[in-house]
Amino acid sequence: MSLREQLCEYGRRAVELGLVIGTSGNLSVRQGDLVAVTPSGAALDKLTPEMCPIVDVDGYLVEGELQPSSETPMHLAVYETTGAQAVVHTHSVFGTVVATTMTELPPVHYNALLLGGVVKVAEYATYGTPELAANVRAALEGKQAALMANHGGVTIGATLEQAFEATRLLEWLCEVYVRGLGVGKPAILTEEQLAAVVERSLNPPRFPRRP
Ligand SMILES: [Zn+2]
Repeated sequence: MSLREQLCEYGRRAVELGLVIGTSGNLSVRQGDLVAVTPSGAALDKLTPEMCPIVDVDGYLVEGELQPSSETPMHLAVYETTGAQAVVHTHSVFGTVVATTMTELPPVHYNALLLGGVVKVAEYATYGTPELAANVRAALEGKQAALMANHGGVTIGATLEQAFEATRLLEWLCEVYVRGLGVGKPAILTEEQLAAVVERSLNPPRFPRRP
């Protein structure tokens, strides 16, 4: 699948899963110095490959008639300082609830480790600005995900599929936490408990074959 085709596929899935309403999110995927990104102001479930602009890592438009997403500077800033090959940004409901009320998402489930543990909320700045890009970059340091204050979430991955799955996981973790708050006080996993999970995953039990 070409980079642009991938954007169409995951744009459609993002809308289908309710992670994105209409135009309220953007995706990009990188190959070498080129980045295919969703266009500004287009519904993510109605994209065609030709609609998706290609920019270079310096932010110059290389291909496409439509303007790249207004959040492209943030995507490029993330590529500049991480090994990411794909970036997914949405205004998903539970992610935005946490981003609007908290300064970080505490690890209430061990799957948070897949995103780097605690998910930080990047300080608020106007969408599309270099300030927001810098804040997101700082919050993403050593992580696969960050939240953006009063805005939404952003995840990265080695492929668009990985970045997309990270967005689904981030939304799930935020939903568990928010729903947990409605029931009682969610217990936060300790450093020790999280370290034990890492240890366990590095040394999985081997089941001996019955002779
Ligand atoms: Zn946004």
